[in-house]
Amino acid sequence: MSLTLDEIQNFKGKYPKQIWSLFFSEMWERFCFYGMRGMLVFFMISQLNFHEKEANLQYGATQAFVYAFTFVGGLFADKILGFRKSLFWGGLLMIVGSLILATDPHKFFFLGIAFTVVGTGFFKPNISSMVGQLYKPNDSRADAGFSLFYAGINLGALLGGYLCIAIGKGELLGDFISEGMRWNIAFGLAAVVMVISLINFVFTQRSLGTIGLQPGHPLSEVKSAPIAKWKEYGVYILSLLFIPIIMKMVSVPEYTDYFMWTVGPLTLIYLFFEMSKVNSSERKKLWAALVFILFSILFWGIYEQSGGSLSIFAAKNLNKDLLGLDPNGVNNSGGAFFIIFLAPLIGLLWIWMSKRKIEPNTIIKFGLGFIFLGLGYYVLFATRFFADLQGITSLNFFTIALLVITLGELCLSPIGLSIMTKLSTKNLQGMMMGMWFLASAYGQYVAGIIGAGLATTKEGATNYDALITYTEGYKQLALYAVIAGVVLILLSPFVKKLMQEVK
Ligand code: GLU
Repeated sequence: MSLTLDEIQNFKGKYPKQIWSLFFSEMWERFCFYGMRGMLVFFMISQLNFHEKEANLQYGATQAFVYAFTFVGGLFADKILGFRKSLFWGGLLMIVGSLILATDPHKFFFLGIAFTVVGTGFFKPNISSMVGQLYKPNDSRADAGFSLFYAGINLGALLGGYLCIAIGKGELLGDFISEGMRWNIAFGLAAVVMVISLINFVFTQRSLGTIGLQPGHPLSEVKSAPIAKWKEYGVYILSLLFIPIIMKMVSVPEYTDYFMWTVGPLTLIYLFFEMSKVNSSERKKLWAALVFILFSILFWGIYEQSGGSLSIFAAKNLNKDLLGLDPNGVNNSGGAFFIIFLAPLIGLLWIWMSKRKIEPNTIIKFGLGFIFLGLGYYVLFATRFFADLQGITSLNFFTIALLVITLGELCLSPIGLSIMTKLSTKNLQGMMMGMWFLASAYGQYVAGIIGAGLATTKEGATNYDALITYTEGYKQLALYAVIAGVVLILLSPFVKKLMQEVK
């Protein structure tokens, strides 16, 4: 028997049972995504003979496009496909992309990547929106649910990020897979897990009641006229038409700049247009959502140094005093590792605090997110005090910084997903979730600019000079993060007014 929305949302206990199914679908999707992302730069340099700089620029472009497409995926979900069909379509495109790469990664590299970019855009925002719909708008358990979901994201990221590249490089199963087939198998693995994600979702749908149905479906929560079939097929065709365009855009770095400078203003104009159609109370909530989105750009800009300047710092300036582990490995996966354990605990902490009426509201959580981020960067700065004369410092101490930064991430990222679902009107959920991720695209972009600014060490400078330059930069970023946190907390009465009854 199909559940009603009320029955789903009136669940007993801490988590709705459907969240586990969505957890697994998202976990496998993130395995596929981070598996592929983790191979990009290495593959481009070692297999396609790209220069380091070129490979990094193209990697950055891919990231920007992936997250920018979440806006498109969310928008089409709201207007035409609904969350379920969007997710399914996105998943299929990701499978096709991975299969293309598995067939001949050397020949069809950018084609496979372009499929994955568009596919992720349709999948990623819409599964998060469905998690939000498991809760009534004011259910104080939602942040804990999103924290748990976030643990699933990171479990997938950790497994995919580690396994795919290890297979590709031959470090894993190298004795069983011939050298010529390693990359094919590694990309193939991404396809296999994405198939698991979709099969899991097929079963999940049965317990989702009316959540994620196409607009115009007789049982859909948002009542509207049925969507004509040609519109649905039109979206499928249009998304396929984007593929050659993305292939071209990713291959020319300047195009990413043009794209980023155009897409942001256009989405804002579109949001303002949608805001003109809602009532004043809904409009205020959308303004509040925009404040969170804008601050998140700064957060990701600082946070995402992990893929850029921090990976260079890890390679040049860190020893192996943490169990002999490789510093770059720790930098890549330490955050995800901490999140898997901390996210459910922090979720339970929110529930515990809410029962005692002492749970901080979302703005304060965001403020705390920035303050932890800042403290983490101060710890990164302080690594210089443990350095030897060669500029090599402690990986242990660096890992403490990762832990503090992760606490910041947990106060902001899952909470951001949760608040997007609470502040959006029902018919703009997908688009607003897309905008949340679009902010990540800008965060990545800003991170690259900040990272390039940090890499100012002159030719011939010693490793010790590099340590001083980088850590000085991290001190600056720490200060910006703390200031942003304080500003958010000071702004809280104003933003609270905009949010009205939403906490
Ligand atoms: N690491 C998270 C994920 O992959 C956060 C993404 C983001 O908002 O940038 O879902």
